[in-house]
Amino acid sequence: MRDEIYPFVVKPLPYEYDALTPVLDATTLMFHHDKHYKTYVDNLNSVLADHPQLQKMSLKELLTNTENLPAAARTPIINNGGGVFNHELYFDAMKCPVGQEPSGELLKALERDFGSVIQWKEKMKQAAVSKFGSGWAWLLTDENGILTIQQTANQDVPDLTVYTPIFLVDVWEHAYYLQYQNRRPEYVDGWFQLINWKKAARRYEEVIARKQ
Ligand code: MN
Repeated sequence: MRDEIYPFVVKPLPYEYDALTPVLDATTLMFHHDKHYKTYVDNLNSVLADHPQLQKMSLKELLTNTENLPAAARTPIINNGGGVFNHELYFDAMKCPVGQEPSGELLKALERDFGSVIQWKEKMKQAAVSKFGSGWAWLLTDENGILTIQQTANQDVPDLTVYTPIFLVDVWEHAYYLQYQNRRPEYVDGWFQLINWKKAARRYEEVIARKQ
């Protein structure tokens, strides 16, 4: 899904606006997707419109070669390209079918790398709640299937030459403020219920399959 090139398009939500209630209400989700995420797409296209030599690069290529980008384009691409990359995975990784839990190789890896699913959840929540200001908390895997939790600031992405994201939680206030105001921990608790573990397992298994 991230091999597209300029002009980037706004991807529709893979579910209805009210599909994540009561954790995320339709208004919160609509503003987040139709306004915030769309703005990143529009701004990224607008930067790339002035730089034809970058128009054949995928989003991942743009975000992993930032030191080689023209100086005038570098910061806008980090901010808006990251905004596109991060939001597309955030929306795609939510909507848990009822009763879904971690399973298979991903479950084994969570238990191996964090002790238990409960301990993983505590660390993930801590990363999300403690991120100062705007940013994200991620569950990542390296090419050997070792899981790690990271925080990034603003719309920064992790080192995508080293890590493949499994999923992430948006802790910018725009992700939750309409519904939760300042209660970020409550939003994060709800977000855990939205994790689409089936899709997460597929992302993880794709990475470990490459090593076999
Ligand atoms: Mn956001």
